[in-house]
Formats: sequence, C-alpha cells, structure tokens
Amino acid sequence: MIPRKKLIAGNWKMNKTSADGVALVRDIVAAVGKQSEVEVVVCPPFTALESAARALEGSNVKLGAQNMHFESSGAFTGEVSAPMLRAIFTTHVILGHSERRSYFGETDALVNQKVIAALKNQLRPIFCVGESLAERESGSTLKVVQTQVERGLEGVSKELGQGIVVAYEPVWAIGTGKVASTDQAQEVHAFIRGLLVKLFGEPVAQKVRILYGGSMKPANAPELLAQKDIDGGLIGGASLEARSFVELVNAAAAIK
Ligand code: PEP
Repeated sequence: MIPRKKLIAGNWKMNKTSADGVALVRDIVAAVGKQSEVEVVVCPPFTALESAARALEGSNVKLGAQNMHFESSGAFTGEVSAPMLRAIFTTHVILGHSERRSYFGETDALVNQKVIAALKNQLRPIFCVGESLAERESGSTLKVVQTQVERGLEGVSKELGQGIVVAYEPVWAIGTGKVASTDQAQEVHAFIRGLLVKLFGEPVAQKVRILYGGSMKPANAPELLAQKDIDGGLIGGASLEARSFVELVNAAAAIK
C-alpha cells in the first residue's frame, strides 16, 4: 500500500491583512516551498487569497480557503463560490469548521452541500468534525463524529470521496492549549477510517488523509503525527508565525 503523504494545513482564521499574509507566505516558501515530502497548504482569509496565490507561485505550497457557498453564483450577498476560488488558484477549502458550525449555525446538511460543491469543482475539502467537551464527557464522542461524517459525506460517490481530506478537531482542543492525548486522537482517527471504509470501501479509505486539529504545536506534533491514522494537522494558532508552522512541516517530514 502506498503510504499517505502527510499534510500540514494552516488555518489563519480572521487574521492577517493581505500585506501581512504575503510576508508570512514568503517566509514559509523560503523555508519549505521546495520540499515535496509533506503537502503544505495555507488558508488565508478571502481578502488575502489572491496576493497569497501570487506569493506562492512556483513553490509547492498550496492555497486553501476557509469557507465557501455551495452555489456557483447568484444572489448570495457576502458569499464566495467554488469557481471564484478556483479562478485564483485555490486548491483546498476548509468546510464545517467548528467555528462555522457554532457561530454561523452551519448544519451537517449545509456542510454536505458545500462538500459536494467543492468536489464537483475540483476543490479538495478539508472536512472538519469533532465533539464538544460536554459530548466527550458524556461518552458520546464516537456517536457525534459518526453522525457528522455520515451526514457531511452523504451522497458523495466513491470516485469523489478520494478527493476528501477529513480533519478531526475536538472542539475543546481548538485554541485552548488543551491537546487531545495521542490515544484519544488515534482512537477517533481509526474510527473515522472505519466509517470511510463503510462509505467508500477500503482502497479509497486508505488513501484519504485524516488530519488532527486542536492546539497542535511543534512540541506535541511528533507524537501525534507518528500515530497510524494521523496523517497531518490542521493548525490554527501555530500557523500564524512562519517559525512554528515550518517546525510543524519539518516534524511531519521527519516521520517515516
Ligand atoms: C483550528 O482552528 O482549526 C485549530 C486547530 O486551531 P488551534 O490550532 O489554534 O487550536
């Protein structure tokens, strides 16, 4: 079986002006822009995407958005579509992030429409799932994740399923400094892999990368990234500085 290439994606959230973003991208490109052992993606806010795309040109670092609408165009004030993202060289899009689910009311059904639209437009969704603290404490983590995965990927064909990246992000670990233990993370990753087997069959499920997200830092990354079903990281806070982000890429590259 071909090993899955590790993927490190930086979710800048609502941070960085266009100029700040270009400066960060330049530093990242200078450090890891030529390596190809690890797939590296930066996800700036919409306003910084196009300038970041120019700064990434000629490097191996890819560009991701943090959200999109499921329609291609139309009367949806304030929204951005998959073809618009594709037109400025975006290759990835984060969908169903817990902040979108909790602050903007995104449901599994809406996330599902977005996942399908992204795949049909040749954008690779970084599809996020994860339980809240209350859900973990009540023992319903796997049930919650199962529902999110099954509903979020409903109607996705085996063929399109190959284009997905899943991110397991326990909500209680995002931006809190509380990282999941390697056992907690690996358990859920293996469980998600099993769900993908049921949805898409073994060969596709073995190809899909499952990222961990939630306070991943250079200090805790090596242990997490060494787990069998952890294929990379979706990084928030530590992606805002080139030094820590580059260290995470190097940590992923060091896993054999
Ligand atoms: C995220 O927002 O996807 C995330 C993982 O954030 P942080 O790394 O800051 O916890």
